[in-house]
Amino acid sequence: MGYELAIIGAGPAGYSASIYAVRAGIKTVVLDKGMGGGLASISPKIENYLGFESISGMDLTEKMKQHASKYADIHFNEDVTAIKKSDDGFAITTSKQSYVVKAVMLCTGTEYRKLNAPGEQDLQGKGVSYCATCDGFFFKGKTVAVIGGGNSAVIEAIYLKQLGCKDVYLIHRRDRLRAEKIYQEKALKNKVTIVYNSHVEQINGTDKVESVTVVHTQTKKKSTFEVDGVFISIGEEPQNTLAKNLGVALDEKGYVIVDKQQRTNLKGVYAAGDITGGLRQVITACAEGAIAALTSTEVLDKQYPY
Ligand code: NAP
Repeated sequence: MGYELAIIGAGPAGYSASIYAVRAGIKTVVLDKGMGGGLASISPKIENYLGFESISGMDLTEKMKQHASKYADIHFNEDVTAIKKSDDGFAITTSKQSYVVKAVMLCTGTEYRKLNAPGEQDLQGKGVSYCATCDGFFFKGKTVAVIGGGNSAVIEAIYLKQLGCKDVYLIHRRDRLRAEKIYQEKALKNKVTIVYNSHVEQINGTDKVESVTVVHTQTKKKSTFEVDGVFISIGEEPQNTLAKNLGVALDEKGYVIVDKQQRTNLKGVYAAGDITGGLRQVITACAEGAIAALTSTEVLDKQYPY
């Protein structure tokens, strides 16, 4: 082993960082609790990553994985349970083994935000889903609701309509969508029905989803939509437990605070990608990973000309 840098998380940021780190002469291991790719891997379509006019998140992150695997050791299904400061660096404990490294890079990304509506938890996997790419197939010819008004929700609604769902309701809590105009126009073109000013009161059903009840935010009038599925797409929360336990400074929303070189408040600890908040795009995650890798040379006794 004898790794110098541990990158936690094999999403776009982690993959990009690993390529730059190994090419800078750093002995690098990437640890991921799952199969890698991060949240980007389940995006139905990515149309703003330079060089790819349109590609699924799965295909794009698979290409990244192949590329990064040519350089770094990437350990999948290895969950990092603790990172502790030690005299000569950091002790990392995983579900499989332990490591001592001189530098750590947090690329742990985000996870789906929950709606916390009655019925959501009980009906998860029974019609409630957080991923149209993963579960949309089961709803061909059926009626579904997508909750949210950001890019993800609108893209998922379009994807579900194009997949062959009979009707798709996009239920949003405000009177305008947050999503970019280009996606809003595509939603209208694809006959997605947009339901504005509506707060989800309850997801109904016993063995499976049967309907969703919403309350109009101004008139307080209740409406129930008969649906077979509810896709919740209301943003993300930072996966910051490791950062928090290590003493890394977080902002008010729980994202890791970094400087322009991706340094955290702790010497030898860097962060890149969605865990740092901000734009949260694949392209920015890759760029941050590259910067973080090169900055980490400062604690690794490597000379890197930048
Ligand atoms: P987002 O932009 O944060 O949007 C979340 C949406 O969910 C907002 O419309 C928000 O409503 C709504 N929401 C949040 N909490 C809610 C709650 N408790 N109940 C009901 N609605 C709630 O999240 P996202 O769409 O997942 O996107 C995350 C990031 O990835 C963004 O930076 C986005 O631009 C990026 N992204 C980019 C692409 C692309 O460019 N291809 C694709 C997907 C995502 P309000 O509008 O009222 O706040």
